[in-house]
Amino acid sequence: MRQLLGKISHRGVTEEVYLAEIVRCQDCQVTVPMGIEVVRKEGKFKKIIKHGWYCRVHGADYATRVLD
Ligand SMILES: [Zn+2]
Repeated sequence: MRQLLGKISHRGVTEEVYLAEIVRCQDCQVTVPMGIEVVRKEGKFKKIIKHGWYCRVHGADYATRVLD
């Protein structure tokens, strides 16, 4: 299960931030029941240029950015 928290677009790059279940954080390597998933897409073909998973602490910046 994942839920879109929000997305932002800037200079042809779209960043989507999701609340996702059972995520292993890339920064601290801890697996959490609810984490943050970040997908960054570029251009009209929506090529994925970044796909990351974070715990709530390390994903907080991404979540804050799309919720502003
Ligand atoms: Zn973390």
